[in-house]
Amino acid sequence: MSLSRPELIKKEIFEIAEYVPGKSIEEIASAYGLDPSSIIKLGSNENPLGPSSKAIQALVNTAPCANIYPSADARELREALSKYTGFPVSNLIASGPGMDGLLDGICRLVIEKGDEVIVPTPTFAYYELPARACGGKPVFVRRNQDFSLDPKKILEAESSKTKIIFLCSPNNPSGNLLPEDDLRKILENTRALVFVDEAYVEFADRNLAGLVREYDNLVIGRTFSKVFGLAGLRLGYGIMPEWLAKEYIRAATPFSVSLPALKAGVAALSDTEHLRKSIEVVRKGREYLEEKIPFKVYPSQANFMLVDVTPLKAKAVTESLMKKGIIVRSCDSFRDAGDTLIRVTVGTPDQNEKVVRAFGTVKSEV
Ligand SMILES: *Cc1c(COP(=O)(O)O)cnc(C)c1O
Repeated sequence: MSLSRPELIKKEIFEIAEYVPGKSIEEIASAYGLDPSSIIKLGSNENPLGPSSKAIQALVNTAPCANIYPSADARELREALSKYTGFPVSNLIASGPGMDGLLDGICRLVIEKGDEVIVPTPTFAYYELPARACGGKPVFVRRNQDFSLDPKKILEAESSKTKIIFLCSPNNPSGNLLPEDDLRKILENTRALVFVDEAYVEFADRNLAGLVREYDNLVIGRTFSKVFGLAGLRLGYGIMPEWLAKEYIRAATPFSVSLPALKAGVAALSDTEHLRKSIEVVRKGREYLEEKIPFKVYPSQANFMLVDVTPLKAKAVTESLMKKGIIVRSCDSFRDAGDTLIRVTVGTPDQNEKVVRAFGTVKSEV
């Protein structure tokens, strides 16, 4: 009897590189023999304040109803999102698992074998995964030295097969915003769908969602994983033109948002005080880290800082911080990010101080 049947798997799947997530507390505790409770996790851009207490209460309240299906189209959550975003429910799609689920859904809707998607690098690594799984081919366009992108270069990369252009604002891992004029230039000169990932938008000065009212080829992706502190629930949403939302619902997995996620999402949106605090912690922390980390730090509009540790290597510095119980993200697994960049999530003031001290020690050791 054979032990595997790879011939059953689509050829495209073998081209998918493994997704590299940030390290978990358990991994680092066992790798370096540390007490898990002493470890600071600043590698995955989570909310250091935790979820809103209202969201926690909603989770407790839904526990006894786990035998009941949620609404197929997450109506109650979309109504709450309508209040939060100012868009009608007909422009809103709630997605599970997370915004990653929305990316899956969009690719499933538009990508067929031989299609292309454009991905400006370095950026969030997930875009190419669902595209490849659907038979699509990513076309990578490098960002400028300061991680801004050149709309002309993006448009030049377009072919008759291009179906989606993936943009990210603020961009992960660089933290910079996409200027509205650049987005307009791209939207007006492409036949493709433009997906703008706004996972970190609450931490930023500006958002681009308003353009959905003007363009019929723009999709905005959002998530409850970052500012709302609900990464473990896997909840995201999209803002898109009504015509596209209709087709999306046709192709999407029904009930993709679980009942606990739906109720916790509604509760989190209602807790404006927790939202305000979460944003404030990040804005203050950004200033502190940008000033105090003894390496080049890029200005950030997100809840993380990109640190260039030249002449050191990101991997070695990351390792050294992790030994001290501080989890940060080496960016060498991001395509075209080089080997000297580290992404650090903004934590509580206490955590930020420890990060600064640890970077200082690393610097003095060389
Ligand atoms: C975290 C993140 C996401 C994924 O969000 P989920 O809702 O947790 O799937 C999407 N895009 C970017 C840029 C992210 O950093």
